[in-house]
Amino acid sequence: MTETKRNPLPTEDELEPKKKKSELDEKAQQCRHGFHDWVEKEGEHLDEQGKPVKMLKCSACGKEKVKSE
Ligand SMILES: [Zn+2]
Repeated sequence: MTETKRNPLPTEDELEPKKKKSELDEKAQQCRHGFHDWVEKEGEHLDEQGKPVKMLKCSACGKEKVKSE
């Protein structure tokens, strides 16, 4: 008797990364409309004139910008 067991459905391990990716995609969708999820970066950063500024980074797409005060 040569019976081989098959899994027609993907395992949970295979589904998990997809789920996480779609969550990120949802965030990136917001980014495309200009709604970035800005998070203040730690430490001091210098602007083009060498002045210390605060930087913001989008946690979804990684875009950075100078925080304007
Ligand atoms: Zn973004």
